[in-house]
Order: sequence, then C-alpha cells, then structure tokens
Amino acid sequence: MEEYNKKRDFTVTGEPEGTVGTSNEKPIFVIQKHAARRLHYDFRIEHNGVLLSWAVPKGPSMDPSVKRLAVQTEDHPMDYADFEGVIPEGEYGAGKVIVWDKGIFQNISVKNGQFIDLDAALEKGHLSIVVAGEKLKGGFTLVRTGKDQTQWLLIKMKDDYAIPERDVIITENRPESVVSGKRITEL
Ligand code: MN
Repeated sequence: MEEYNKKRDFTVTGEPEGTVGTSNEKPIFVIQKHAARRLHYDFRIEHNGVLLSWAVPKGPSMDPSVKRLAVQTEDHPMDYADFEGVIPEGEYGAGKVIVWDKGIFQNISVKNGQFIDLDAALEKGHLSIVVAGEKLKGGFTLVRTGKDQTQWLLIKMKDDYAIPERDVIITENRPESVVSGKRITEL
C-alpha cells in the first residue's frame, strides 16, 4: 500500500487511505471507468486483502479475438472498490471515476495441467479467471507480454459468454455505473 499512499494527499482527495483489508470468502473484482488525463478502465481483482490493478486504456472486450493492453499499476485498498467520485485537480489521477462493473471472480489458472494459486499465476505471467459481474461474465485471461513486467494483455476466453464486437461493444452499450446508474459525464 506504500506506493498507493505515497501518490495521494488524503486531505485533498476523497479516495480511501491505503490499508490492507481482510479477504472476502468469495474474492471480488471491480472495474472502474476513470476519466483522467486519458480515459481508461481500471481492472482490479482481490488478492491477500488488496486489489491488484491494471489500467486498460480501451477497456474490456467480450470478443475473444480482441486483445486489450493492460498496464499493471500499484495495488489499491479493498475500500477502493466502492469509490466513485471526482479526484480533485492537481491530485494523482485527477478526474472522474465510476464503478463500471463489480462482482466476484474465481482463479482458474493452470500450469502443466494443474490448478495453481494466484501468486504462482502472477509469477508465471498468465492468469485465468472467471468473473461474475453485472456486465462481464465468464472467463478472462491476463497474459504478461515482453520484457516490461507491467505490460499485460486482457483477453476474453472463448465460452458461452463471449460476444463478437461486431454485435456488442460492451463499453459502449453499457456506459453506466453499476452503483449509481450514472454515466461518467453526469458526475
Ligand atoms: Mn486509473
């Protein structure tokens, strides 16, 4: 949480202070739409009382043929999953945030035909998870690419929940917050 706390002035921003939380019986995932200097979607999954986080510039796709760049960022506190609001000008990540999707997930990562835990999957650079959100459902893969340890790709797995982008672009069809129903421009 040190990196998270160092970047923020909690007397100015309404974001929660970074502490390590307790783990949920069913781990959560959250995706926040963040209109900062550049619009992106923050994809976060619970692990050991914090939210592992990736910034996905174009957001998730339900189309397995689409690979979305996902840049791993600093871990966020569990409380961040409920944060929706405006980060003031001059603060780190200044801009508007809505909770674009939220739910639970399950790690289904495999190595040599055996299920492995999230730490082993992170180490390997290949995470497979199944999410049950309001918008996103089914399997997703996060794969680390190249030499840069922070660069990953987020890819929908081929399953019954997959939708070709020619039919639905989930970020366009469902722009609203799953908490307030607001669009990011309405904050
Ligand atoms: Mn962000």
